Amino acid sequence: MSIGLYIHVPFCLKKCNYCDFISYPYNEKDADAYLNALIKEMELVSASLPPEAKEVETIYLGGGTPTCLPAPALAAILGSCRRCFFVLPGAEITVEANPGTVDGVKLAALREAGVNRLSLGVQAVQERLLKFLGRMHTFEQAREAVRMAREAGFANLNLDLIFGIPGQTPADWEECLKRILDLRPSHVSTYGLQLEEGTPLWRDVQAGKVAPVDEEAELAMFELAIEILTAAGLIHYEISNFAVPAGRCRHNLRYWRNLPYLGLGPAAHSFSGSCRFSNETSLEKYVVRLKAGELPVAGREKLTRQTLLAETVFLGLRLREGLDLKAFADRFGQAVEEVYRVELDRLLKLNLIEIKNNFLRLTPRGLPVANQVFASFV
Ligand code: SF4
Repeated sequence: MSIGLYIHVPFCLKKCNYCDFISYPYNEKDADAYLNALIKEMELVSASLPPEAKEVETIYLGGGTPTCLPAPALAAILGSCRRCFFVLPGAEITVEANPGTVDGVKLAALREAGVNRLSLGVQAVQERLLKFLGRMHTFEQAREAVRMAREAGFANLNLDLIFGIPGQTPADWEECLKRILDLRPSHVSTYGLQLEEGTPLWRDVQAGKVAPVDEEAELAMFELAIEILTAAGLIHYEISNFAVPAGRCRHNLRYWRNLPYLGLGPAAHSFSGSCRFSNETSLEKYVVRLKAGELPVAGREKLTRQTLLAETVFLGLRLREGLDLKAFADRFGQAVEEVYRVELDRLLKLNLIEIKNNFLRLTPRGLPVANQVFASFV
């Protein structure tokens, strides 16, 4: 079975106020050490896998800000993927980028290296909200990055947005969605701002300096996104994601279908189909272990059958098409209805889920309370 490759690039130019991802301030020395370690990791992993486990259907360079790295480094990572794995023809290759870290030359080099999907962290269009989030770029830079990406030949372009930002009004959000649509993206991701413990934003909220957006207002923004983006012809294909018909992110679809993926780089996670692994989160430890010729795995969990079934159900329910019941039965030798009879009966009676054309999915009523529905299966 083919896999998806996720490569974590743990550098950013500056930390955003709300972010708890593993990322370090970019500098050349650490980036070189990271690159050597990452290539070593690919070689070690490749040597440990049978040929049939090395077929790669998607590659996703995420972070951090992968485009902090110079273009030759990004090309070297992709070159190494091709040497160590069998990257299938037509593979989807995504790079996450932030406006202000790309120019025409870098984008052309990424295309040349085989990148065929770009995901730009735009987040907001109002300068005061971008500042509040601690983003380094302006909306004008985001617009310019989109223009340059198109010029470089990127037709498959995702724009990331955040809603529920303290101080963001419904009118701000509506303006944001409309100005984003003016850029004609093939994919839009909209995530509610999460308050992550330990971040500057979290501390400000704890200290009473910032009032978080209440749940009702956040829900209204979520519903507005669905209304405006779908009216513009984008398909709402996953709770937080919208795309033109052929623009769904194949890499992320693998996560929602609970299919195997291999994570490389510090803090990257992998899923073999029955086990989850995670790498060292510290860049230093990651580099040291690879220099010693060891795989940098820090955690390993063998999933019980019960966990595997539950995860497959609630990840599948994130998709608007829902969980493919036939694929589930083929994979696990048991029908969903047999495993979760009581839970399904209850949720069907509440009209929070429905079964149609052999797919189990959230109803419009279940969508706003998706997390409560998912919890029923855990
Ligand atoms: S650019 Fe992205 S990964 Fe980097 S600090 Fe900001 S939110 Fe986090």
